[in-house]
Amino acid sequence: MLVEPTSHHYWKPRLHEIASGTFDSELDAVSYLQHSYYNQYQYVQASMKSLNRGQKTVEIQDQQGMVSELAYDYLVIAVGAVSNDFKTEGVSEHCLFLDSALQAQQAWDQINPLLRAQGEQRISIVGAGATGVELAAELAKVSQKLTRYRHDMNLTITLIEASNRVLPAGPECMSEKVRKALVKNGVEVKTETRIKRAEAGKLVTDSGEVINANLQLWAAGIKCAPWLATLDGLETNALNQLKVDANLVTTLDDAIFVIGDSAECPQPYGSFVPPRAQAANQAAGHLANQIKRLLKGKSIKPFIFKDGGMVIAVGHNYAVGTLMNNKLILRGRLVRNLYDTIFRLHQRILFGWGRVTALVVLKRLKSTLNPFYRNNIS
Ligand SMILES: Cc1cc2nc3c(=O)[nH]c(=O)nc-3n(C[C@H](O)[C@H](O)[C@H](O)COP(=O)(O)OP(=O)(O)OC[C@H]3O[C@@H](n4cnc5c(N)ncnc54)[C@H](O)[C@@H]3O)c2cc1C
Repeated sequence: MLVEPTSHHYWKPRLHEIASGTFDSELDAVSYLQHSYYNQYQYVQASMKSLNRGQKTVEIQDQQGMVSELAYDYLVIAVGAVSNDFKTEGVSEHCLFLDSALQAQQAWDQINPLLRAQGEQRISIVGAGATGVELAAELAKVSQKLTRYRHDMNLTITLIEASNRVLPAGPECMSEKVRKALVKNGVEVKTETRIKRAEAGKLVTDSGEVINANLQLWAAGIKCAPWLATLDGLETNALNQLKVDANLVTTLDDAIFVIGDSAECPQPYGSFVPPRAQAANQAAGHLANQIKRLLKGKSIKPFIFKDGGMVIAVGHNYAVGTLMNNKLILRGRLVRNLYDTIFRLHQRILFGWGRVTALVVLKRLKSTLNPFYRNNIS
């Protein structure tokens, strides 16, 4: 049984495309109702609210506010994470976030009029991790495409990062290449710039600099929702991530597993599984196999994350990626194709190759036949 509050699945690493108006929801959003029907699982449109470990039940709330209880033998928590505003003054009131498809759509609803307005418009993005970088590059590309048709608009995108390089959590060798690609696309990159306060239409830095903008987006760091820290005594860390052992089992209850961004999962040599799509996907596959073993009375094996590298899209035709434990850096159009392939591999898990092939062909046809296709012009 899958308990999920939204009606459709959107792959989170592509939310920046929804915010930039280039995501094709018709083709690439997945209805849980339909998917559950074809894959023989039960889908309940609701949110988990609380947990009773003694009785092995979770409390859930549906869209109408109705609260009910579900019993479980095994519980897997995979509720992801949200942006971390690090308690910075004014951020929750004056910045937009990209934590869900709904928020990404709300961002697009405000970005769209800016792209249509005359004269200079400014967008500030705080945080130059994967989310901030990909959003800045996508918006820069959309704005470039629009200036082909209209010459009276000028969108300035400022990407602000507290650390001394973009992609601070990624390999250092990638950062400079990504920064150069961003600057080439017209993005203003400000590193070593920490935001102290957000106000309506402006961000104020630690050094007192004021960065004005029509729209401000916050994409710096992650944390989990506070309710995770109140789950019937389960252990959490400072980010509200639930603590699990190497088998993805919560430290205090061996009927409860946690995977993805909401887990703090230890790895050999003292590190933790990173909050990345690749890690969430590997953990899901691993746990599915381990639960099958459990049901057969066998012991379960630890989860070891295998880092397959990182690929960051910088606009529609360019990406930078690392392979072989960051020893090999690749960039260019082919790497951008690899980025798209990663999304298609995710879809293959959901639908199988047949439907994925049909989706790729349909998308190509749409952009060839219709010059006003969103992904072509926005
Ligand atoms: C714009 C953007 C770009 C990114 N780019 C990259 C990238 O290039 N590479 C990369 O590796 N990672 C990237 N990430 C991070 C990546 O998306 C996450 O690491 C990954 O999605 C984590 O998967 P998850 O299953 O743990 O959580 P999520 O994908 O966040 O899924 C959590 C699910 O839980 C549901 N949920 C939430 N609360 C409840 C509740 N109370 N009850 C029931 N269900 C609930 C949500 O609706 C959601 O469907 C990006 C993230 C963003 C936002």
